[in-house]
Amino acid sequence: MNRNDAQKRIEKLRNELERHNRLYYIDAQPEISDRDYDRLYAELTQLEEQFPELVTPDSPTRRVGGEPLKVFNPVRHLQPMMSLDNTYDFDDLREFDKRVKKLLPGENIEYILEPKVDGVSISVRYEQGRFTLGATRGDGTTGDDITNNLKTIRAIPKNLQSDFFPPALLEVRGEAYMPVAGFKKLNEERARAEEEPFANPRNATAGSLKLLDPRIVARRPLSAVFYAVGAAKGIQFGAHEEVLNTLKQLGLPTPKFWWRCQDIDEVMQRAGELQQKEGDLPYEIDGAVVKVNRLDYWPRLGATAKAPRYAIAYKYSHEQARTRLKAITVQVGRTGSLTPVAELEPVFLAGSTISRATLHNEEEIKRKDIRVGDMVVIEKAGEVIPAVMSVVLEERPTDSGPFDFIRHIEGKCPCCGGPVHRDPEFVAWRCENIACPAQLKRSIQHYAARHSMDIENLGEVLVSQLVDRQLVRDVADLYQLAAEQLSTLDRMAEKSAANVVQAIAESKDRELWRLIHGLGIVHVGEGAARKLANHFQSLEKIAACEAADLERVSDIGPVVALSIAEFFGNPRNQTVIEKLRQAGVRFDHVEAASAGSATGPFAGKTVVITGTLENFSRDEAGEQLRKLGAHVADSVSKKTTYLIAGESPGSKLDKANKLGVKVLSEAEFLELLK
Ligand code: AMP
Ligand code: ZN
Repeated sequence: MNRNDAQKRIEKLRNELERHNRLYYIDAQPEISDRDYDRLYAELTQLEEQFPELVTPDSPTRRVGGEPLKVFNPVRHLQPMMSLDNTYDFDDLREFDKRVKKLLPGENIEYILEPKVDGVSISVRYEQGRFTLGATRGDGTTGDDITNNLKTIRAIPKNLQSDFFPPALLEVRGEAYMPVAGFKKLNEERARAEEEPFANPRNATAGSLKLLDPRIVARRPLSAVFYAVGAAKGIQFGAHEEVLNTLKQLGLPTPKFWWRCQDIDEVMQRAGELQQKEGDLPYEIDGAVVKVNRLDYWPRLGATAKAPRYAIAYKYSHEQARTRLKAITVQVGRTGSLTPVAELEPVFLAGSTISRATLHNEEEIKRKDIRVGDMVVIEKAGEVIPAVMSVVLEERPTDSGPFDFIRHIEGKCPCCGGPVHRDPEFVAWRCENIACPAQLKRSIQHYAARHSMDIENLGEVLVSQLVDRQLVRDVADLYQLAAEQLSTLDRMAEKSAANVVQAIAESKDRELWRLIHGLGIVHVGEGAARKLANHFQSLEKIAACEAADLERVSDIGPVVALSIAEFFGNPRNQTVIEKLRQAGVRFDHVEAASAGSATGPFAGKTVVITGTLENFSRDEAGEQLRKLGAHVADSVSKKTTYLIAGESPGSKLDKANKLGVKVLSEAEFLELLK
């Protein structure tokens, strides 16, 4: 193709891709499948590679641009991003209506009711129709410049759609969010990689937008919706409904449902209707927002320091309970993350008594202004761990002060006193002391765990004592323990001391994947450990790899690869590994695939196990299957070949039946094994 034709084709492809983005995100009426979209996209990418001089910064392929940043630059908003007053009951809505009417005597007031999207506020600036700047709310006046991250979100157009001249300037406000389905999938992936799960879609969104590397953000399933305008030049609006309509015309995603209401009674009726339709929306909502429709009234209504008087949020309530927050403790995880935990006056909620709830992280505490001694509202949503939602301000003790996380832990790890630093993605603090006893305890437990080196009798209490008495400073020290040392510990008879030493010694011969998993490399779960073991067949080989070599293994992505390379590059870890070698731990135990692994009934098949089996544990069955060349998965999907169902199978069986996946009873499974 010559340059001229390429130019034409490129333009055509760009227009097509933007059009399909609009059809998908704005109209919810895609005309082509994801695959066909990907095909067009790939064609454009290829042409742009061939003719680099034809690449423009607003090409849809440039969404993932830019190198990782060191920090986000501050951005001053042209118009402040305000918060909203909120209420949980209709009486307050009537009060709001009264106040509005008092400030606008004799006027007939129409309201717009729209969803209150439970996402993360963002502001996006378009100059001459081009996306030039994206920012977080920050303190309302100044936010972070997250332009590169927002550019990765396909729902946010890079160019406004306009038949005439686009406005000289348009700053639009809305929410970035993670669709619930995408959130679940992301957390499943994280669980498999043994990474901390996100507490909820809002947290996952906030965490993703805080990443400094836009390439990782691009892989997060983020979307956005817009409902307001900040600064504008070359465009004017008379009413809020006009804003919503115009944003949509310009190609921006806007709320799927909203209503113009003649009076506050209609507002209340529509608020109920919206709650009914909650499931039809791709994002979580935490209520409705009521706004005075006519914009010329807004300045007349004015604002408080925090929130405008032209709007109010009406929030829905969930299954909740109130109780007193007695204290905030801090838990130290295996990777050193410091998680604040609410210690509560026990309270009954949704079928169980709750005395602890998560506070997620420092930022959540700040955002909700949670203080020790507060009466708090806790909520339990589905299978999620109970969380503190909000504070009952009327019942706040008079002598309380804001909770200062870093002062609370006196600037150091509450367990070891080591230095702490902030991890931006999780807005979490981490203990940086690699010798932190809390981390060490958790990493030794992990090393000994059933899915790692499987060392029997080495439980939590024993590990804790070993670390506290400094008998063990790293996992390799386990192999130096003598029965006499152990028998001096609490509740440790001579016989059981000997058993522990024996069990530790036996672990020297474990399979390589168990060792890799046991080392607790960040992002390396059991699945990745197996892949690495099969591919490299020895720990030395893995340790000698550059990140790029590791990425060649299927399913090992760049983040994981980097984490592995960093782990083995760390001199401290090198010392531990050398100690393990000298202790006689095997580094190359990879079981040769057994006879049927290439040709047998399970070779290359994807198998899921559910329920209780009679003849083996699920782990053992999985192990057998793997030896026969099967891939053992956690959940049923279209790719599943067999579901093996034991006694009292779970929802996996329903799913398999729905998808038409072949179900094997234990007897049939045994038959095939033969
Ligand atoms: P809050 O954080 O509870 O004070 O609520 C205010 C925030 O709600 C705003 O900063 C927006 O980010 C968010 N919000 C969600 N949906 C809307 C909406 N339809 N209109 C205005 N703000 C909204
Ligand atoms: Zn520590």
